Amino acid sequence: MNKVLSQTLGYPRIGRRRELKRALEGFWGGKLGDGELLQAWHEVEAEGWRVQQAAGLDRIGVGDSSLYDPVLDWAIRFGAIPERHRGRTGWDLLFGMARGAGDAAALELTKWFDTNYHYLVPEIDSRWEPVPEFTDYLSTLGRAAEVLEGCAVPIVLGPVTFLRLSRTDLSIQEGLRRILPAYRELLQEIRDLRRGAWGVPEVQLHEPALVLPHSAEDRPLYEMAYGELTSLIPLQLVTYFDDLGESFSWASRLPVPSIALDFTRGDNRSLLRKHGWPKETTLSAGLIDGRSVWRFDPERTLPLAEEIRQHAPLRVSPSSSLQFVPHSVQAEAGLPDFLAGVLAFADEKLLEVTQLAAYLNGEQATSIFEAGASAWAGYRAVIPAQTDLAQRIGALNSNDFARTTDYVGRRPTQIQLPAFPTTTIGSFPQTREIRSLRRQRKEGVLGESEYQAGIDQAIRETVRAQDEIGLDVLVHGEFERTDMVEYFAERLHGFAITEHGWVQSYGSRCVRPPIIYGDIDRPAALTVREFIVAQSATSRPVKGMLTGPVTILNWSFPRADIPRREIAFQIALALRSEIRDLEVAGARLVQVDEPALREGLPLRPERRAEYLAWAVDAFRLATGGARPETQIHTHMCYGDFGDVIEAIDRMDADVISLENARSGDETLEELARFGYRRQVGPGVYDVHSPAVLSLEAAMGKLRSFHRHLPPDQIWVNPDCGLKTRDWPEVLASLRNLVAAARQVREEV
Ligand code: GLN
Ligand code: ZN
Repeated sequence: MNKVLSQTLGYPRIGRRRELKRALEGFWGGKLGDGELLQAWHEVEAEGWRVQQAAGLDRIGVGDSSLYDPVLDWAIRFGAIPERHRGRTGWDLLFGMARGAGDAAALELTKWFDTNYHYLVPEIDSRWEPVPEFTDYLSTLGRAAEVLEGCAVPIVLGPVTFLRLSRTDLSIQEGLRRILPAYRELLQEIRDLRRGAWGVPEVQLHEPALVLPHSAEDRPLYEMAYGELTSLIPLQLVTYFDDLGESFSWASRLPVPSIALDFTRGDNRSLLRKHGWPKETTLSAGLIDGRSVWRFDPERTLPLAEEIRQHAPLRVSPSSSLQFVPHSVQAEAGLPDFLAGVLAFADEKLLEVTQLAAYLNGEQATSIFEAGASAWAGYRAVIPAQTDLAQRIGALNSNDFARTTDYVGRRPTQIQLPAFPTTTIGSFPQTREIRSLRRQRKEGVLGESEYQAGIDQAIRETVRAQDEIGLDVLVHGEFERTDMVEYFAERLHGFAITEHGWVQSYGSRCVRPPIIYGDIDRPAALTVREFIVAQSATSRPVKGMLTGPVTILNWSFPRADIPRREIAFQIALALRSEIRDLEVAGARLVQVDEPALREGLPLRPERRAEYLAWAVDAFRLATGGARPETQIHTHMCYGDFGDVIEAIDRMDADVISLENARSGDETLEELARFGYRRQVGPGVYDVHSPAVLSLEAAMGKLRSFHRHLPPDQIWVNPDCGLKTRDWPEVLASLRNLVAAARQVREEV
């Protein structure tokens, strides 16, 4: 049998200690020059290559690293520069397109498939003729070659995916016709690139769009593109994030020597059994999950690898780039042993890939996996899958998922407010003072009670400010939360917080998702103390403020041994008790934020209904125990929610606030068309802009809301939390927001 090679599809690119983040922010702040940024970036990149080399990988994907976003890099390399950014060059152009420059707005940021990474959406106008400029990319490959010699394999974003992800008026056929010559040129330049003895063994063309539902209609495009490009250099067509679905039969026969499939998501295994595989095509099997933090399970993976090998020459690979997981478990000193033993981040996964390849080549006995097996046994001894909580969830019935009284019946019993009631979404500016409080606590300068006194002071001042502005429903301001998920994860049992487990969200922004490893339990109230501090400082109602179960789940790494649905229900039960405690403390309104609900939608439409069913059930389980008199609010950070509107309706929240500032009236139109009957607060104030909301602008919005919905359904609030804004603009904007609501009250 052929030798099984090991390979990678990309590595974390922000740096083990977030070096690139710091360098970028220093550069933007004027503290670092071009040379220093470049050096910091190249060091991060080279370190990633060396780690992969040291792990013994045969083929190492290179060229995925980026100063901001690889999709943006490809847009620039292909000359897809929107009109408003033309005239700039180099990093001015790059960072201008990424972050906006003067009047020229940035490209839109959007989720990379179903991950929590965000890429910039290229804009291609009908006059676009690619002006290829690959110098930067080729010089990266040159540097990689010096470090990696024969192992470096260029990663290139595939043409169909590039076009599918772009916003363009061109038909995709026409776009492809224009871009293919640029790809030809690129592949030729790569082929001709030599450094010393180094030549490029092959090129990875990443086409994750092949797992999307419309890939079948793109079949002629893939056939044309790969038919044309394949003669230039050996290609590997790389897919991930799901199986190939109905495209499997033809996609596996595309004329390339090698194809990479994800065997950790979807069901490529069954498709392989059903359709077989062309025997001359190498199958690179994504057997090590690039998106989970868990050590692989040899009992599942070894038989799978052996089976795939019966069909095709095999290679072993992570299922995707490793950019979605932190660097190394080694950096985490604070995790309990039973947990650390079953975790695998990027560096540990590299070793899993090479060990798996060595085993398949007969160079290693299965005994190398014994450490893993015993680590898993140690974990299961502490964390059994079957527990009382699992039983309790199994025994839930439909009453547990519903409030005792329906919306129409409970509304008159809830708090009575003037028409067009005003409120905010929860957070208020996280100022330097707040951050310094937090730092001082961390450094031990402040004790817990001094820290809390500082937070309480901020809460009281914020409540006073809202009182004075005349908002109808106040919030405490969320000063005690660094992050809306981490705060809950730190206080609930079953979550671990890492110290260095950062993953890139976009550009220089990183998140540190908590790891859910065990049953979730609420040892004590989570938010009640801060609620009481706020409520005792005012006679106006204060809204309790919680992060919803689906959002907590979707922004964490889930445990691997029970279904996500069950984890969501566990979180929901904890929040359900929290709502009870808030009620006892006097809360008449409680907001349960679900900004990540839609983010969890599976890529394939056929799987969406199932997800939405349990996601909405989780929200209902969290809120279903609230008394009828308690007004439940929810918040979502998106306006265009046509695809989930029925799910939103079924959540049965009394009030929902939605983003709206940037869209026209579509949100309202959609709600009206749907016949949505509960209360809605479409955002009036765009919190993503430092501009002050004017009275006229606010009035305009409210009048237009009123054209679509009756006054008793409308709330007046900003688009989202105010934590990234500054106080002066927030105060001025909220004053105008309240003034507008009062004026509209008079008018109707
Ligand atoms: N309550 C949160 C806040 O105001 C909601 C944030 C969000 O939806 N992302 O910050
Ligand atoms: Zn929001």
